[in-house]
Amino acid sequence: MAKKCIYCKTEIDDGSVIDFCQRCGIGVWGEKMFKAIVQSMEKSREAGDLFQGSVTDNKVAKNWKQI
Ligand SMILES: [Zn+2]
Repeated sequence: MAKKCIYCKTEIDDGSVIDFCQRCGIGVWGEKMFKAIVQSMEKSREAGDLFQGSVTDNKVAKNWKQI
């Protein structure tokens, strides 16, 4: 089962920690923020602390406003 970008439905890497493609991520948050998000998500995953299920853009946006 391929994972798909929640914005443009492009197929994304199944091992990706995020639910959207790089192009959309950068479009929504900007390149710097997008990279910070991916980095933090990867760290969370390493710690076994990733959200269960899909991460919606609302959840992500909420989380990242606090930074
Ligand atoms: Zn996309």
